[in-house]
Formats: sequence, structure tokens, C-alpha cells
Amino acid sequence: MNLARNVSTADFQRLDAAHHLHPFTDTRQLNAEKSRVMSKAHGVWLWDTDGNRYLDGMAGLWCTQIGHGRREVADAVHAQMMELEYSNTFFKTTHPPAARLSEVVAEVTPDGLNHVFFTNSGSEANDTVFRMVRYYWQLQDKPAKQIIIGRKYGYHGSTVAASALGGMDGMHKQAGMVPGVHHITPPHWFDFGGDMSREDFGVWAAKELERAIDELGEENVAAFIAEPIMGAGGVLIPPDSYWPEISRICSEREILLVVDEVICGFGRTGKWFGSDTYGLKPDLMPIAKGLSSGYLPIGGVMVADRVADVLIDKGGEFYHGYTYSGHPAACAAALENLRIMREERVVEHCAEEAAPYLQEKWRSFADHPLVGEARMVGLFGALELVPAKPGRTERFDPVGAVGTIARDFSFANGLIMRAVRDALVISPPLVITREEIDQLAKLVEKTLDDTL
Ligand code: PLP
Repeated sequence: MNLARNVSTADFQRLDAAHHLHPFTDTRQLNAEKSRVMSKAHGVWLWDTDGNRYLDGMAGLWCTQIGHGRREVADAVHAQMMELEYSNTFFKTTHPPAARLSEVVAEVTPDGLNHVFFTNSGSEANDTVFRMVRYYWQLQDKPAKQIIIGRKYGYHGSTVAASALGGMDGMHKQAGMVPGVHHITPPHWFDFGGDMSREDFGVWAAKELERAIDELGEENVAAFIAEPIMGAGGVLIPPDSYWPEISRICSEREILLVVDEVICGFGRTGKWFGSDTYGLKPDLMPIAKGLSSGYLPIGGVMVADRVADVLIDKGGEFYHGYTYSGHPAACAAALENLRIMREERVVEHCAEEAAPYLQEKWRSFADHPLVGEARMVGLFGALELVPAKPGRTERFDPVGAVGTIARDFSFANGLIMRAVRDALVISPPLVITREEIDQLAKLVEKTLDDTL
């Protein structure tokens, strides 16, 4: 069924304004400006109901690794639905796609992560983490270990526990905080580095974790949660010195390391996982997004053998789960997505072809008068917009105003980028070609010039 047929864009906008409350949206403002109505997608391109074409510089919401419109995924989901559209994974039951997918994710994730708890989203994965780490420490006869340390600007989702683990003040102010979560400074040199060199700051920011553990008491701290590169916080790439120091602290202190790979996972940083890029050994690893390239909602928590052994041997029943944990159709979509990624060497294409080519162009944007920093790892980058160069101390007033203007110019130019404060962020499908990167770079250049 083509929902767009015989109905005008204005009709959809009217329905939307009358009934639809959008995520992360000022509805009054949206209703004044009207929604864009997207109706079709293929490869790295999206079309709206008026026929305008956009280059999807955000891979949907950091998820469409294999690009849009792959018929094989639709066929796999269709076949699964005709065979078994739903069966739960509770009560001593499984089904072929969930069992197969659990093996495949164990194969592609870093060594030692051989168990998965399926969820429908990254938020649910992080709510699962919240409950699982506390349960783990109870089983280890350390029930006081309850506090989870996260980071300011971190994003781990919108459900109650996930939003608390994240470090987005606005979210905490609107709905309150869950007790037992503590936030430390993120490794974002551009905003927080002061006079320190990048690498000195990386060590300083990592040692914040050690200081927090000392302050809170190691006997009370359950885990540290972090994204390898912070995504929704503005693609904040840590200095090289950061992760080795964090890894040292986590291995010397008795706390679990939770590496949130919801964005970084499945090739975004040029390796299968951000943990591979930074040499991390997660105890728990939330995944979602690129797991199915967004074709259907699915997420999960990868659990390291050393943690799974405790949960399985000592745990009994874990009172936790979702009706759609391991939904057959979602598992089928994920399985086909991962087959495509492996057989078509999508991660290798990102690492060897697309990322080096885009990164070279990206670096050249640092010469633009509006750009204070141009950063990118894999196909995951940001341009920090500043009012004056050189220097990192000046900011637009109010913060975010220029980012939003630039984002709107980008859209008008036919490129979807996102603004986080005054950073323009980019995360295109991993299958993007050189020719498409040339087009993307031209649109970024035009957007910067329009904003100036
Ligand atoms: N974790 C990270 C790092 C994310 O970026 C996101 C979403 O952007 C989430 C968790 C939440 O995932 P979801 O929106 O699927 O609930």
C-alpha cells in the first residue's frame, strides 16, 4: 500500500499536527513550521512527498548501515512472517531466528561476549543493563554495589533508567532522576580541556572515574557506562589517552565496564565495534540500531562470559524481559542485515574506501571561517561551529542557535545532518560511495557558506 498516493503533503501535515506527538520535538514550533513528510528511500537517498531528494547524512538515526530499500531484508521478514510471525522467548521456548541470531551476534562481537539478552531498542537494552548489573552484584554477595557512573552529555536512551544513565540535563529536569547514578566530565577537549593538551586532558578526564569511585566508595559502585565515542552528545571523540586509562581503572577497581555500542557498533567507527577500535573489553555491551540497520526495531545486551557465568550459575530466574524480546521478524531482519554486512564486506568498505575519502574532505572543512574543529572516526563525525577563530573559548550566544540554522540550511540544500548544540554531526550509511561522498561534501560546503 502506498500511503502517499492521492493524498497531499498538506493532508499528512494536518493529520500529524492534529494527533502526533513527536519524540524530541517542540510540537508548537513544529506545527507552525510543518513536518517534512518522507515517503520513499533507496541507498543513501530519501524522498519526501513533494518529490524532493535528500542525502541521508544521518543514516536514519545512526542506524541504516546497509542503506535504505534492500529488498533481501524485506523478503526475509516476509518469509519469516509467513512461517512464524510471533512466538515468545519466555517459558523454556525459543525459535529458529532468535537462536540463529544469538550465534551470529556472538560471532561478530568482540571475543568473550557470547551471550545476548534481546530487547526492542537501545533504551530497553540500557534499562536491562541497569537491572542486570545490580542483580549481578547481589549474586556476588555485594548488594551495596548499586551506583552506576555515567557521563555528562552521554546518551543511553529515553526510558526511565536509560535517561538517568545518560547525562542530558534537560531530560533529568523534565522528569526527574533515578537515585544511584553519578555523572563525570566527558572526554570532550574542545569544551572542557581548558589549557591542557588534548592527551593530558584525556588522562585527566579518565581519572575523573577514579576520583568518583574513591568519593562514592568502591564498595558502592556497580558499573561505569560509556559510549566509545559519544554520539547524540555531539560525536565527541576522546583523546587517544582516554580509553587506555579508563580500561586500567576498570580492571584495577571492582566495577563492571558497560560499553554502549548502540551507535558505534556494527561498523560505524571503521571496525565492527567501537570496542575493537579502542581495544576495550566490555563486561556488558548494549547494541541496537545497526544490528538490523533499522529495518525493524531490535536491540540487545551482549554479556561477557565472566558475567553470564555468574548470572546462569547462581542467578535462578531473572525477573526481566519484554513480550517482543527476540521477535521472530526482527531477528530475521537482523540476520539478513548481518549476512549482507558480512558478505558484502560493508565494514571493510567503510574502513578502506569510504571513511578515508570522507575524512580527507572533512579535514579540509577546518579551514572554513565557521569551523573550530572538524573531527571524524570511521564514518562518524562533527563540525564544531564557532563565532571566531582561532581559539576554543568563544561560543555562539545562545548556544545552539547557529547549529540549528546550519542544520536547516543543510536540509534546504538536500542533505540531512543533525545539530547538537553548535556542532553539525554526520553519520551516513556505511555503503556510501565515493561519488556520493563528493555530493555530500559539496552540500556541506554550501551549507557552511549559507550559514556564514
Ligand atoms: N544508546 C545510545 C548510545 C544511543 O545513541 C541511543 C539512541 O540514539 C540509545 C542508547 C537508545 O536507543 P533507542 O533510541 O533505540 O532506544
